[in-house]
Amino acid sequence: MKRLQHGVVIVGGGIAGCTLAILLAGRGVAVTVVERQRQWQFHGSGIFVYSNGLAALQSIGVLPAILDSGFAIARGRNVYYDQRGEPITETFYPHAPGTALPPILGIRRAELHRILLERMQALQVRVRLDCTVATLDDPAGGDAVRLQLADGTALQASLVIGADGVRSQLRSMLFGAVEPVDTGFGVWRSIHRRPAHLVDKIMMMGVGKRLGIMPISDEQLYVYATTNEPGHPFYEPATLHRTMREKFAEFEGPARAFLDDLREPTQAFYTAVEEVRLPLPWSRGRVGLIGDAAHASTPFMGQGGAMAMEDSIVLADMLARGDDVAQTLSAFDVRRQPKCAFVQEASRRVGEAGGTESASSCVARNERMRAHAQSDVDTFYRRLYAFDDVAAA
Ligand SMILES: Cc1cc2nc3c(=O)[nH]c(=O)nc-3n(C[C@H](O)[C@H](O)[C@H](O)COP(=O)(O)OP(=O)(O)OC[C@H]3O[C@@H](n4cnc5c(N)ncnc54)[C@H](O)[C@@H]3O)c2cc1C
Repeated sequence: MKRLQHGVVIVGGGIAGCTLAILLAGRGVAVTVVERQRQWQFHGSGIFVYSNGLAALQSIGVLPAILDSGFAIARGRNVYYDQRGEPITETFYPHAPGTALPPILGIRRAELHRILLERMQALQVRVRLDCTVATLDDPAGGDAVRLQLADGTALQASLVIGADGVRSQLRSMLFGAVEPVDTGFGVWRSIHRRPAHLVDKIMMMGVGKRLGIMPISDEQLYVYATTNEPGHPFYEPATLHRTMREKFAEFEGPARAFLDDLREPTQAFYTAVEEVRLPLPWSRGRVGLIGDAAHASTPFMGQGGAMAMEDSIVLADMLARGDDVAQTLSAFDVRRQPKCAFVQEASRRVGEAGGTESASSCVARNERMRAHAQSDVDTFYRRLYAFDDVAAA
């Protein structure tokens, strides 16, 4: 692409940054990814990828490897129980329209990244590990952004993208301090051996707590559970496994065996959930933001990764068609913001319903789920797929 003749620098090699690097390098653009981690190291937990995320992975050529490593849930079946293990209802997630892609797949995060990194390597994307950006200068009238990396290296690029996550440094460089919002939720995660019979996604709705179980490979499954954690409490890493067990002590049924299996601190992860609420614009001049850096959501719809990949698909396509890089970035922001805001709002509502601490409200919520859970799923996906941003890309 001629307008990217000085190459592209992507800051952050997470899901968004790797996807964009693959797409641009695949179109012959010289891409450098600047990543803060000393070595690629990915959180030892799982991630769900719904059908729209799988469509994104298909479009970057890695779907066969993802299907091979992960675990697709047949018919997208999601079974709901209460905390005692009494069934509430079941729902089915849809396929992406016009595709036979699985409705949902679970995979280890490390596996997803391994597959993305292999594709980047095959496309000769340059990676600078253990590095961040020290300064950025996007002179008006010039034809390239000048960057200085923290190790003193000087670079220039036709486009710089901040894909550096919730606590984005690029976002601060562009817009000053826009702190992520503490949502008051905490997520507890762990990985276990998958019993052969466990082939569906499970969600258990407790009082002020939710606990999900999701296969992530033939051998493993992933437990992710949410609690209300106002005031951002600190939990001692050495006892996280015990704390997780205690937090969900009243959970029986399908969760019990996995809670009892928590024996080592390294088995449990705790994350305070933050959101990024950044009004438009998400870009300035030839420097833009994608993924969590621009619009991190609570994780209750499991759509953050898919939104990050879709950002990359839409942006790469707009760059291939547009003339002016700065105008393309502004148009990208306007095109993507409504869908990302829709996901953020839907996810927030689901989080609030799951965080209800009054026992009588929980009974009413579960009753409502019996009647409406499937139509809620259908409505969410109908609206998600009605956005034509990716289809137009
Ligand atoms: C508890 C939890 C569960 C979730 N579950 C799901 C799920 O099941 N499905 C789903 O789709 N989404 C899920 N998400 C959301 C999903 O993880 C994110 O939306 C997604 O990872 C965003 O990708 P990203 O590339 O924008 O950011 P990140 O994945 O955060 O990547 C950012 C990268 O930038 C690097 N970086 C940061 N700062 C700098 C810097 N200054 N310089 C250089 N590099 C830097 C980081 O090291 C990292 O590699 C979940 C989120 C949470 C918190």
